[in-house]
Amino acid sequence: MYPTLQEVVHANALKAFRTGLMAGTSGNFSAFDRDLGVMAITPSGIDYETMKPEDITILDLQGNCIEGKFPPSSEWQMHLTIYETMPEVAGVAHTHAPYATAFAVLNQPIPVVLIEMVLLGGTIPVAPFALPGSLELGEKVVATLKKNQTSACLLENHGTLTIGATLESACEKSVYLEDSAKIYHFAKSVGEVQLVSERAVQEMKQKMAL
Ligand SMILES: [Zn+2]
Repeated sequence: MYPTLQEVVHANALKAFRTGLMAGTSGNFSAFDRDLGVMAITPSGIDYETMKPEDITILDLQGNCIEGKFPPSSEWQMHLTIYETMPEVAGVAHTHAPYATAFAVLNQPIPVVLIEMVLLGGTIPVAPFALPGSLELGEKVVATLKKNQTSACLLENHGTLTIGATLESACEKSVYLEDSAKIYHFAKSVGEVQLVSERAVQEMKQKMAL
């Protein structure tokens, strides 16, 4: 019924897994069709390498499963809360990417160490801890993204979250976030880190009309 939406979620989730952004069956990915009012999301506990496009679960805006033989990811409420409250978003990626998640465990934001981070909105904030799968987690993520005007945040003691106008864009941001976290980690371990200046960040934001 929704082959394109399911294929998009399947392809991007598998690519993220193969890129090393999460282990086992952790992480979850969704794409939203605002016209149809449906969200396609990775199912709960299914191996990424054996997952098929038709295994991607389709939910309506009330969270009812309208297609798919597996239950949706346990984080479906977080994805739905983002789509309900951020009209510009149509793709959400949640990973446990190890370098970025290390900063989530330290409860430390990741400052702008690379120009690519301007695409993410600047310093990556940490959304306060909430139990996985809770409605509260989605509310804290949305509050953190809006307050900091970023399209990425860390989830305290949990992982990462990125949003985009498409799922492909959200996943690309997850890759840049992990790359930035890795480089920041290496730089911190050998010396004093120099950040991209706030002035340069603002100038680049203006140029990119962010
Ligand atoms: Zn998670």
